[in-house]
Amino acid sequence: MSNVVGVTAPTKQQENGMTRVIYTNKAGKGVGTASFRPWGYVVIIREDYKKDKGLLNHELFHARGNLLTQWRNWLIRVFDKEEYYEEEVDAFAIQLHTYYLEGVSGHVIDSRFVKFANFIREKYGFKPALTKDVNADLRQEVMALMREGLPAFLPNPQQK
Ligand SMILES: [Zn+2]
Repeated sequence: MSNVVGVTAPTKQQENGMTRVIYTNKAGKGVGTASFRPWGYVVIIREDYKKDKGLLNHELFHARGNLLTQWRNWLIRVFDKEEYYEEEVDAFAIQLHTYYLEGVSGHVIDSRFVKFANFIREKYGFKPALTKDVNADLRQEVMALMREGLPAFLPNPQQK
């Protein structure tokens, strides 16, 4: 990984797990990933998205908890696709919430939402093909989470 431009220190929530955040453009096709390793998580985000705090919070949500809960969450994701889907919805709700807090404009949020809906369809495949209805369902689910309460997660990454 020669193009590393920034690594964050673990957050307080992650102090018992090891989470490294790396910004690079040499990382696959996605804009961000959180990959589990036996010792914790590597969060990789495209350099072009370095200012995207919503995306960072999304990936840090996947990497939340101490090493034990990181292992547990990883196992759940591997063996239960519905749980994995719910996890992605939670992570996206946190991402959207971050955008709202930062005053990101509505059309940017909308475009992120379309990206997310496509990502859910392509990556997990277990939801019906993306139609306006599925998109609306997903949006409703995310919005309900934002109204009724986000999952407990207060990311506070210390940027170097
Ligand atoms: Zn995700």
